[in-house]
Amino acid sequence: MVEKLWLNQYPKEVLPSYDYPKQNLAQFLLDAAAKYPEHTALYFLGRKISYEELLEETYQFAHALQELGIKKGDRVAIMLPNCPQSVIAYYGSLLIGAIVVQTNPTYMERELNHQLNDAGVKLLIGLDLLFKRISKVVPKTKVEKVIYTSIKDYLPFPKNVLYPLKARKEGNSLHVDYSEHVLSFKSVLHGASKAPIQVEVDAEHDLALLQYTGGTTGLSKGVMLTHYNLVANTIQTRSWSYKSEEAKENYLAALPFFHVFGMTVLMNQSMLLAGTLIMLPKFDADEAVKLISKKRPSTFPGAPTMYIALINHPKIRDYDLSSIEICISGAAPLPGEVQEVFEEITGGKLIEGYGLTEASPVTHANNIWEKRKLGSIGIPFPDTDAKVVDSETGEELELGEVGELIVKGPQIMRGYWNQPVETSKAIRDGWLYTGDMAVMDDEGFFYIMDRKKDLIIAGGFNIYPREVEEVLFDHPTVMDVVVAGIPDPYRGETVKAYVVLKSGAQTTEQELEAFCRERLASFKVPRSYEFRDSLPKTLVGKTLRRLVVEEEKKKLETT
Ligand code: AMP
Repeated sequence: MVEKLWLNQYPKEVLPSYDYPKQNLAQFLLDAAAKYPEHTALYFLGRKISYEELLEETYQFAHALQELGIKKGDRVAIMLPNCPQSVIAYYGSLLIGAIVVQTNPTYMERELNHQLNDAGVKLLIGLDLLFKRISKVVPKTKVEKVIYTSIKDYLPFPKNVLYPLKARKEGNSLHVDYSEHVLSFKSVLHGASKAPIQVEVDAEHDLALLQYTGGTTGLSKGVMLTHYNLVANTIQTRSWSYKSEEAKENYLAALPFFHVFGMTVLMNQSMLLAGTLIMLPKFDADEAVKLISKKRPSTFPGAPTMYIALINHPKIRDYDLSSIEICISGAAPLPGEVQEVFEEITGGKLIEGYGLTEASPVTHANNIWEKRKLGSIGIPFPDTDAKVVDSETGEELELGEVGELIVKGPQIMRGYWNQPVETSKAIRDGWLYTGDMAVMDDEGFFYIMDRKKDLIIAGGFNIYPREVEEVLFDHPTVMDVVVAGIPDPYRGETVKAYVVLKSGAQTTEQELEAFCRERLASFKVPRSYEFRDSLPKTLVGKTLRRLVVEEEKKKLETT
């Protein structure tokens, strides 16, 4: 057994405890509002919302949901960008014991349909701009009520904002056909009781969240995270910035709350520390630098693409970014050079962490004030065990050997929703098999070397090649296809499709792209296509995606 060398790296302030409160995840908001009622909880496009106001509206929303028939255990989907409503809907649902299903607002009908049906969603809260897309899907699901909201609902004064989601196809229509089943956010809040409300939950067993991911096999499935999982991970997350104080931190909320990284490391973390979330509905480098210099956030968790976009902003040095003190990068590998340049420009610290949806999500991080290593994902969080093992036998490897990273801790999911077989593959003997290949050094720092699972990470978003291939296979001209992630200086990886056409069939790159755009969220659509006569196969006919990627890398090196 390789020793838990990482334990030596922790200062005594953050030693393992296992003492995580068994409470509703929304309790962080209640505590912050009780201690700091006047403190600004949210800042959104010029509007400030105090903790007291936020809690009051959250109570109202919780009462409204109950009046609409939502009970403990019912699934409530939220399809919103970062805005006050996404925070209110999230904690309001949790307070009454409903299970939140976060839905990416860029999902197209096919993806939304799968998620709503698989989770058995009863009520959905969506952005008005998504009305046409949502209303096409809802009749095919068990969704009984839809609540729409507009970005404008929380603006301090009427103004034309650049809408964060330009609803493709639908145009920018804000027209919603309200009815008995289709309601507006403002109207459901209007008149709802502001009295405290909290339905009792069994934190270790009751689910707070069903978070969809492809996991190691690519099939989109709901990760079951309990209140306890998320409470624990939010508290564990303090270990990387353990000196942060209550009611002092301002977070640049650029990561989407619908992604588990933004949810835990930003939204829940800010509630735990009674911080201020300075929200960006959609990341844009120019908007971000302006907001940083104006609102002076101290903390900026992000994905590598965000830091890359900032350091490449042509006027970055004209802005005062000196408020930035601590940043954690996750979701994809952080290039060392980006880390160095970003720190030189801002004077703050940027460190790398690692996690996955199945772990609420964070399991490893470097530490802001302690030892850190470039290119490493850091050390396991307190109360998190990590090992590098042989994927087949589960046997621990020697120090320095590359194997599958497996993790154990209070943040690990209960399993996949309605997928016992997938669950038993992912969790064996209490250990979560991450599908990532890693190595540990002699001081307990881990390094991700490769991925066992078929996954492309472009700009911090996960794309499962199988899903894109399935869409392309539906195109009448396509006989064979393989989709791979190829190196990209900005997005880390980018999606490329290698297509073999049926004999005599003809199509163009543009036609295939339009076909994919209709069926896939934009971040999954291949950015380039290559037509081939055949694809490399194994003896059993499985396409060798890895070989295709190697060929592509060689091509890139020689150009
Ligand atoms: P998700 O479930 O969407 O959070 O994606 C989790 C996956 O993202 C992990 O299993 C890794 O493959 C990848 N990932 C997350 N953080 C890092 C990192 N710092 N370096 C490399 N890969 C990462």
